[in-house]
Amino acid sequence: MPSGRDFTSGGRRGAASKKNAFCSFCRKSYRDVGPLVEGPGDVYICGECIELCQSILDQERKRRGASKTLFAKIPSPREIMAELDEYVIGQESAKRVLSVAVHSHYKRLMAAEEESDVEIDKSNILLVGPTGCGKTLLARTLARSLNVPFAIGDATTLTEAGYVGEDVENLLLKLLHAADFDIEAAQRGVLYIDEIDKIGKTSQNVSITRDVSGEGVQQALLKMLEGTTANVPPQGGRKHPEQQYIQIDTTNILFICGGTFDGIEDVIKKRLGKRSIGFGSAGESASDMSLGETLSHVTADDIIEFGLIPELVGRLPVHTHLKPLEADSLVRVLQEPKNALIKQYQHLFAMEEADLKFTDTALTAIARKAAERETGARGLRSIIETVMLDIMFELPDQPRGNRYVITDDIVEGREKLFSTDPPEAKSA
Ligand code: ADP
Repeated sequence: MPSGRDFTSGGRRGAASKKNAFCSFCRKSYRDVGPLVEGPGDVYICGECIELCQSILDQERKRRGASKTLFAKIPSPREIMAELDEYVIGQESAKRVLSVAVHSHYKRLMAAEEESDVEIDKSNILLVGPTGCGKTLLARTLARSLNVPFAIGDATTLTEAGYVGEDVENLLLKLLHAADFDIEAAQRGVLYIDEIDKIGKTSQNVSITRDVSGEGVQQALLKMLEGTTANVPPQGGRKHPEQQYIQIDTTNILFICGGTFDGIEDVIKKRLGKRSIGFGSAGESASDMSLGETLSHVTADDIIEFGLIPELVGRLPVHTHLKPLEADSLVRVLQEPKNALIKQYQHLFAMEEADLKFTDTALTAIARKAAERETGARGLRSIIETVMLDIMFELPDQPRGNRYVITDDIVEGREKLFSTDPPEAKSA
C-alpha cells in the first residue's frame, strides 16, 4: 500500500484512533459509512463518495466520447439500409425512408453544432403498417446501429393531463433512461412512439364528458414533436406541483411514430374509388387491391380522416408504409435475419451437441400457419414453440451427436419425432 494511504478498518495502522474519522467530502463519520480511504494530511473519503466521483467521471467521459463518435462519421443512407437489411426482411420502401431520415437527422445535428445559418427542419416519421410486419423491429434495429440514444414508448398508456394514465413527458423519461440521464445526449436522440393510431379522436365519442385519451393527448404530443422545453418528472408517473423536473429540449429529438391504423385501407380505397369515377373500371380495381398495395397510397389526408388531428400529421411530414408479410416472406423471416428463429433453435441444439434441420416444406407449413393467424411474423414464434415443445423436452436426455430433421408432417402434427425409439436420424 502506498505510504500515506490506509484503511481505517481492519485493525491496521492507527485504525482504532481513526474510529472517529469522518469523510472529508460528505462529512459522514466512519461509524455511519464504514471504511474510509485516507489521503495525505488527515483527509478521508468514504465508499459512497468514491462511487459518486466514479459516476461523475464516467458520465463526463461518456459525454465527450459520444459527441466525438457522433460527429466523427455520418453513416450514409446506404450503410444504414445495409444494417437494416441484416435484420428486417422486405419493407424496402420503409427502410429507404428511414435510412434517409436518420441520415438527415445526423446532418441536422451537425448543422446545429456548427451553428450554420441554414437551419434544417426536423422530419419526424410516421410508419403505417399492419401488426407484426416489422415496425418496432425497424425502430429497434436502428437503435442498435445508431450512436444516439434511442427509446421506444407506447401511445396507448398516455392520457390527457389530469386523468389516470401517463403524461406524454414520460416518453421523454424513457429516452433519458436510454441516455443514462445524460440530458445532452437525450436531446439529440430518437424516440419511437408505437400505437399512435390508438389516440385518434373517437368520432363517435359516446361520453358526454371529454375525449380523455384522444385529442388532448394529440395536442400534448404536438408540442413535443415540434420542439419545446418539456418538464420531465424524474421518477415518472403523474406530474406533481412540488416535484423537481428535468428540463428537456425536444427540438433536436427525432420522433418516429408507428401504428397499424386498422381500417385505414377503407378510407384510402374510398378516396381512390371516388377519384376514379368516370374512368371506367378503375374504381373497381381500387377495391380489389391488396392491403399492401392500398397502404402504399396512404396520404396525410387519409390519416387525418382516420382521426389524427391535422396539426399532428403536419408535424410528421414523412409517411411510409409497411406491407403485410406474405407466406414467402415469412419463410425468409424464419431463416434469414441475423437472429432468425431457426438460427436460435439451431444454437440451442448445438449446445446439446445436436444438429437441427428444418425441411423446406416444414418452413412453408409454419409460414402458412402464421399467415392464417394474420398477426404477421408475430405468430411464427408461438407456432414454432408449439412444434418444438416435445422435442425440447426430450432433447437433453438423448444421446449426443444426433441429427434432427423437422418435416412438414411434424409441423402439422401428423408425426412425432420421438414416436420411434431411438430417435431416428433422418437424412435431409
Ligand atoms: P409491429 O409491426 O407490430 O411493430 P414487430 O416489429 O414488433 O411488429 O414484429 C414482431 C416480431 O416479428 C419481431 O420481433 C420480429 O422477430 C418479427 N418480424 C416482423 N417483421 C419482420 C420483418 N420484416 N423481418 C424480420 N422479422 C420480422
